Amino acid sequence: MRRKLAAGNWKMNGTSAALAEAEAIAQTHAASPVELLLCLPATLLSRAHDRLAASSLSLGGQDCHAETSGAHTGDISAPMLADAGARAVILGHSERREAHEESSEMVRAKARAAHEAGLMAVICMGESLAQREAANTLDIIAGQLSSSVPDTATGENTVIAYEPIWAIGTGLTATTDQIGEVHDFIRARLERRFGAGVGRSTRLLYGGSVKPDNAAQIFATPNVDGALVGGASLTQADFSPIVTALE
Ligand code: PEP
Repeated sequence: MRRKLAAGNWKMNGTSAALAEAEAIAQTHAASPVELLLCLPATLLSRAHDRLAASSLSLGGQDCHAETSGAHTGDISAPMLADAGARAVILGHSERREAHEESSEMVRAKARAAHEAGLMAVICMGESLAQREAANTLDIIAGQLSSSVPDTATGENTVIAYEPIWAIGTGLTATTDQIGEVHDFIRARLERRFGAGVGRSTRLLYGGSVKPDNAAQIFATPNVDGALVGGASLTQADFSPIVTALE
C-alpha cells in the first residue's frame, strides 16, 4: 500500500513571513493520513525546521549538487540540505533541466548523492508540447526514467514526478487519460528494471497546474499516488483542498 503524498514546490518564492502558510498547512492536516512535503527555498529550511519540528510536515530542497562539498560556489550539497532539516529534494525539475542545462545523467548523480545523504529524491520528468505532438511522449519518459533514476532507488528513497512541461505554470492540465497512460508506463518500467517490490512501492506523482478544482479527478486516476504542486502550494487556502482531495 503506497502512502499518498502531497508535495509542494515553492520554487523561488517566499521569505520568512511565508512560513505562516507552511504552519497553517501543517496545522490543518495535523492528523492526515497523507504525507505532506514542502520543498522550500534553501534559505528557509532551517527556520522552517525550527518552527515545524513538532509537526508531521516534512521539508525538502529543490536541487542539490552531486558532490558532498568543495569548490562549487552557490551550490548546496545533499548533506547540507539534510543538516538544514530537509528529508527530501526535488531533482531534475524541467525548469532546472532547461535553465541550468541539467542532463538526465546529472540528475542521476544528484539522486545518488541524495540517497547517500538519507534524502528522498523526487525525480521529475516530462515531455515538451512538441514532443507530445510528435507522439514521442513515452520514448522521452523511457529515456528520462532510465537515465535519471540511479540503481540505488527504492520505494522509500525515491518518488517519480511526471510533469508535462507544457502543463507547468500554464493552467493547462493533462487529461486523466494522458496522465494514466504515462503513469502506467512508468510503473511497468520500474517493475521491469527494479522488480515488483521496488516497482510497486515507488510513488508516482502528477505535476502540472494541479489546483483545488481539478485535484480530485486527477487523484482518481490509477497509479497516481499524489501530486507535486507549484503555484497552488504557496498558500494554505489553495493547498489544503488539494491535500483533502487525497485524504
Ligand atoms: C511544478 O513546478 O512542479 C509545478 C507543477 O508547478 P504548477 O503546479 O504551478 O504548474
